[in-house]
Amino acid sequence: MMGDAAPVIEVTRLKKYFPLPRKYPGQNSLQVHAVDDVSFAIGRGETLSLVGESGCGKSTVGRAILGLIKPTAGEVRLDGMRIDHLSAGRLRPLRRRMQVVFQDPFSSLNPRLRVREILAEPIANYALARTRAEFSARIAALLEKVRLPADAAGRYPHEFSGGQRQRIGIARALATEPEVIICDEAVSALDVSVKAQIVNLLADLQDELGLSLLFITHDLAIVEHLTHRVAVMYLGRILELADRRTLFALPFHPYTQALLSAVPVPEPGARHRRMILKGDVPSPVNLPSGCRFHTRCPHVFARCRTEEPLLRKVEKAEGGTHYVACHLETRPGTAAA
Ligand code: SF4
Repeated sequence: MMGDAAPVIEVTRLKKYFPLPRKYPGQNSLQVHAVDDVSFAIGRGETLSLVGESGCGKSTVGRAILGLIKPTAGEVRLDGMRIDHLSAGRLRPLRRRMQVVFQDPFSSLNPRLRVREILAEPIANYALARTRAEFSARIAALLEKVRLPADAAGRYPHEFSGGQRQRIGIARALATEPEVIICDEAVSALDVSVKAQIVNLLADLQDELGLSLLFITHDLAIVEHLTHRVAVMYLGRILELADRRTLFALPFHPYTQALLSAVPVPEPGARHRRMILKGDVPSPVNLPSGCRFHTRCPHVFARCRTEEPLLRKVEKAEGGTHYVACHLETRPGTAAA
């Protein structure tokens, strides 16, 4: 649908519904619509950011790509090969090519293992080194890649700061020489300055290694200098997908506009009007009819309440790609709207 001609990752009409336990016999079965018909592609060496509030389904998309959960419907392809229906055994050799960096490196790093052992594990799992010298060389190269000193190998996770631990998490992800890394809120728990350092490191690694990144985050501000394209998710659906420049300069969807209005403006005194959305995010169990954003949209009109808008290409986009799921003909905020 979108992305390069030969994408590394392709997600097509992905759905993931989680059934809720019945509270009483005979109750109709209820489902959480965590991901509800999501399609996108990630090109080689590209960063795609999946952005949305907590609970919008973005992490579920990442877990489905990694094969950690089975989709309810839809397809996931790696380099053209369908992988969503593979057994754990058949997926295992392919998982070497797709790695993940989680939000909390402390809970994902075994506190009883030294960094050397943490990094040796994936190397051993995929038989990427045989001799002691080969292991040591690979571990030293990984530490250098993430800008940690060589003596870090002999230390334990608790001896490092949050940012350094996240560097260890990235080194572990790189250990299998992946083509794709999924960063799931990978910098969300870090202080602002450390966040920027880790984002810069990821951008450098991408350049150096030609990685494809799926950057999952609730924070649009983080991705502005890292990403090539952005997909904005709300209640299990992508509402807008555009190249970075278009999305930040000319956001079309009222939800994207609201998210962007919350991003701090760097220049003091710059004009910035914050859009406060009314109401809460509706339940993903009982989705609103029509446009799923209509209960909070400042531009809602009759059609929005009955007809779900499909993702369509925005005409006259000023360069790049731009898709939006909204019934409005013109971008809200422009003279013709
Ligand atoms: Fe708002 Fe209607 Fe567009 Fe949905 S379709 S975002 S309710 S204007």
